[in-house]
Amino acid sequence: MSEAEEFPAHSDYVMVKVNRAVDSDNIRTRRCFVCGGQPSTGAGEHVFPKWLQTRFGLFDERLTLINGTLIPYRSLSVPCCADCNTGFLSRIETKVQEIVERGCVESCADRLSVARWMAKILVGILVKETALLLDRKNPSHGSIVPPDLIDELSHCQLLLQSARKPTRFEALHGPFPFTLYWYRINGPEDGFDLSTDILGQSIAMQLGKLGLVFVNDGGLQMIHGDKGPYGLEGATVLPHQFGELAARIHTKASLRDATHFYLTSETPDQLTIKQQSVRPFTGTILSGGEMQVFQPWDSVSFAVRAAQITRLEESVFLDPETGHEMTILTNLFSSEEPGADASSNPER
Ligand SMILES: [Zn+2]
Repeated sequence: MSEAEEFPAHSDYVMVKVNRAVDSDNIRTRRCFVCGGQPSTGAGEHVFPKWLQTRFGLFDERLTLINGTLIPYRSLSVPCCADCNTGFLSRIETKVQEIVERGCVESCADRLSVARWMAKILVGILVKETALLLDRKNPSHGSIVPPDLIDELSHCQLLLQSARKPTRFEALHGPFPFTLYWYRINGPEDGFDLSTDILGQSIAMQLGKLGLVFVNDGGLQMIHGDKGPYGLEGATVLPHQFGELAARIHTKASLRDATHFYLTSETPDQLTIKQQSVRPFTGTILSGGEMQVFQPWDSVSFAVRAAQITRLEESVFLDPETGHEMTILTNLFSSEEPGADASSNPER
């Protein structure tokens, strides 16, 4: 391939690797999902690593892809070369495994490792989905992946691959250009759950005592509070309460109405990822004169999602009589019963 000659396999530039990795030809021809190079002949990279499958007994569990295909976690792998697999990806796994066993996110470095790891899972799922779509060989349908999503996939790749070299971040809404919230979960050691919103680019995972939610949104949700819904980041919650938090964050992710301009630069020794400004999608002006960055909150969509994730009834989250939204999180910070009316609390 001409690209392979243009960009030698051992190029040290992260941005070159990212561009090769998001190229649809490289995805179709099953090149390494993070550098676009020649993949190794092995199983590739498990999107859900073996340690995670063992730790949470996922071997026979299945994940539902966008097109409805059920795929066992153990079969969800993407093409990967040996250098990437045993290099920076393996270092991320080691760090995250420690954080999961510890059950809390302590430092900025932890936060970055977790975000890169979840970015890898999102990218892995998207690459798998895209490869499956391209396999159907029906170009008349065109790409179902909108160009903006490809841009954001590149950002997700860049965040993941920034682990390859020292990186300086300059972000508008917090220390890093992503949204990440974590929770302590009062549940079984081997409790596992996963939910995603691929178009909103959010992913939530219950990993035993640790709950994590990541959104590849440049940190836009931080605009409404850096501790997430009800300011609860770091709090101890029950598994179904974590499910509600995940549903709130996924719903908000799906309502995002803006992205960011970035200025990314790179030398052989350092990568700089600089967020410059917010770029609105629809450009809707709110009554206060501000630019809309999230579409108006949607209680129905939230309730449907919360019911799916928690396996509780929708009526727990939306009163069918009054249409009022409700929450099962209030008993954490007041004496109210679960299922209390949430409409008076603007911080969702
Ligand atoms: Zn590679």
